[in-house]
Amino acid sequence: MIFDVLTLFPGMFDSPLQESILARAIKQGLLEVRTHNLRDWAEGKHQTTDDTPYGGGDGMVMKPEPIARAIAELKQQAPSAKVLLMSPQGVPFKQQHARELSREPGLIFLCGRYEGFDERVRQTLVDVEFSIGDFVLTGGELPAMVMIDAISRNLPGVLGSSGSAETDSFVDGLLEYPQYTRPAVFDGMQVPEILLSGNHGKIAEWRREQQLFRTLQRRPELLDNVQLSDQDSVVLERLRKETEIAKTIR
Ligand code: SAM
Repeated sequence: MIFDVLTLFPGMFDSPLQESILARAIKQGLLEVRTHNLRDWAEGKHQTTDDTPYGGGDGMVMKPEPIARAIAELKQQAPSAKVLLMSPQGVPFKQQHARELSREPGLIFLCGRYEGFDERVRQTLVDVEFSIGDFVLTGGELPAMVMIDAISRNLPGVLGSSGSAETDSFVDGLLEYPQYTRPAVFDGMQVPEILLSGNHGKIAEWRREQQLFRTLQRRPELLDNVQLSDQDSVVLERLRKETEIAKTIR
């Protein structure tokens, strides 16, 4: 998979891509991240990529022409690549998007700076706007890097033996169950007995119940969009009742 990134600060991508799982995946040829400096498509001695806002106000706005030229050139090499604009006003980026986008052959990330983009960039040059959360960052580079990381984990072979994306939080709509490793007792806290039992059927049941419990406790709204089995529904009903009882006792 090829990720093309249009940015004014290509250097921001160096270090995160030189470490750990992504570095290994790049070495293995499972993905490629190509950063491009938008200034290379700007005109004039100063290679200007931004200008003052029409109507007045603080800050600078990113000009549409260098962006249009850059996207046109990248699209010549990858005509089917979707253009994703990083924006706090975009669609909230979720695990489901990471999974869907990992099936694309290539993606073009457009990173903003300053006050953001001239509105006409949104209207004609972009397929989807994505936000990584309800807060405002100084630029789109970190959001692009966050998305590249989340998408890459879903590419075949990227995680290797470092883990599986299958049991992660959000993959089946629920949060992950609690994890434990050695020692069996830490600071007086014992690992749940069931995990030491070797009974894989019972462990799977316990983990599923923990997923439901944790989601109910921390992110109950997620349960509205999860496909639950009959067994899940029975367990969830019990957990809801137990939670209610615990609240009244407190
Ligand atoms: N004035 C813009 C607004 O209020 O919508 C914010 C501009 S922000 C300072 C500069 C750039 O950072 C944006 O164009 C976008 O590319 C990126 N950015 C900031 N916060 C983001 C977020 N939560 N998700 C995705 N991109 C973000």
